[in-house]
Amino acid sequence: MATLKDELETRVAEYDRWAIRRQFGADGPNMRRLWVLTCMDERLPVDEALGIRADSPVGGGDAHLFRNAGGIVTDDAIRSAMLTINFFGTKEIIVLQHTGCGMLSANGNDLVAALQAKGVDTDAVPVDPSLPELSLQPGAFGKWIGMMDDVDETCLKCVDYLRNHPLIPDDITISGWIWETELRRLRAPTTDADARARTQYSTATMGVQGSQPPRWS
Ligand SMILES: [Zn+2]
Repeated sequence: MATLKDELETRVAEYDRWAIRRQFGADGPNMRRLWVLTCMDERLPVDEALGIRADSPVGGGDAHLFRNAGGIVTDDAIRSAMLTINFFGTKEIIVLQHTGCGMLSANGNDLVAALQAKGVDTDAVPVDPSLPELSLQPGAFGKWIGMMDDVDETCLKCVDYLRNHPLIPDDITISGWIWETELRRLRAPTTDADARARTQYSTATMGVQGSQPPRWS
């Protein structure tokens, strides 16, 4: 059995390559050849939820992390997945979303109205100032925000979108998972009411009225 001394010596010796491995392209993948799409919420501990060490320095580096509001598939998520999958040796995708998500906490139509009340023209927003070619059709801003009705349904939809995307090869392993913020445990996406008891998994469980602008349903 290796002693801690042996492990530390190996880890330190590997550091030089770890630090410059991105220059090796597909031959310098992260430790688990893994890309994680997850929510930016500070209550979602990615390492704990997945049992990985993504952000740690020497000896860590298990995954490429992509965090946005909700952990949803967006154009920039696709861009990042395309790069890590096709050029940096990644072979697996995890979509990790969570209950009690802020993306369940309001109706997207109300957010649009609130921004308009502040004087924002939501039909003329540069979604990427460096890429004016990427623009929204008038009226699409509410969908672009990406608010969810149901986190489990959204997670499954995001997995489906990735599985069927032309930039993601068929041999990539893709799965979706839900972190129950209230109970601090991981589960598979489900629509079973009993399995989701005691968690805020939908707009209804968060007291929000009406359906979201349709993006995930
Ligand atoms: Zn969230």
